[in-house]
Amino acid sequence: MISLYLGLTILLIALVLFIISGVQRRASGLPGGRVIYSDTRAWGKVEKPLFDHDLGLTGKPDYLVEQSGKIIPVEVKTGRTPPAPYDSHVFQLAAYCLLVHRTTGKRPPHGIIHYPGRDFAVDYTPELEHALLDLVADIRIDEQHAEVSRSHDEAQRCHRCGFRDTCDQSLA
Ligand code: SF4
Repeated sequence: MISLYLGLTILLIALVLFIISGVQRRASGLPGGRVIYSDTRAWGKVEKPLFDHDLGLTGKPDYLVEQSGKIIPVEVKTGRTPPAPYDSHVFQLAAYCLLVHRTTGKRPPHGIIHYPGRDFAVDYTPELEHALLDLVADIRIDEQHAEVSRSHDEAQRCHRCGFRDTCDQSLA
């Protein structure tokens, strides 16, 4: 009898997870879109990165998906799937949204971050755009200084950083 209850409980949990994943997948919009651009070499030619001269900003999303006349940038991440997107990933996606807007004239309503276990649709709100522009302005100011202080206390970030071996503020 106990094994029956256990089996039913596991079944119930699996069903709930299945429903949740379905809702999240629909919310991400990935399946319904048409992939119109990819930097995956196996898929064909690699297009030029997007570039905005005024901000001096350039970047290349993994995909651009067309949905109802809108162009949605998609960023694919490997590694651990977090419960919510990392701030750095959100800003990266926001930068792609901004670049899409400035290069095509079409403002994406959102972008998508694809982790191995979950997709997140991130709304490209005016607030997120302003936060991104503030961040870019801060970076431009920092670029003028020979020394810039570390902006975080996350050893994991330093652990994954390509400048770790030469950075005198590394936590890893
Ligand atoms: S190693 Fe240095 S540059 Fe890299 S994340 Fe850490 S503090 Fe920043």
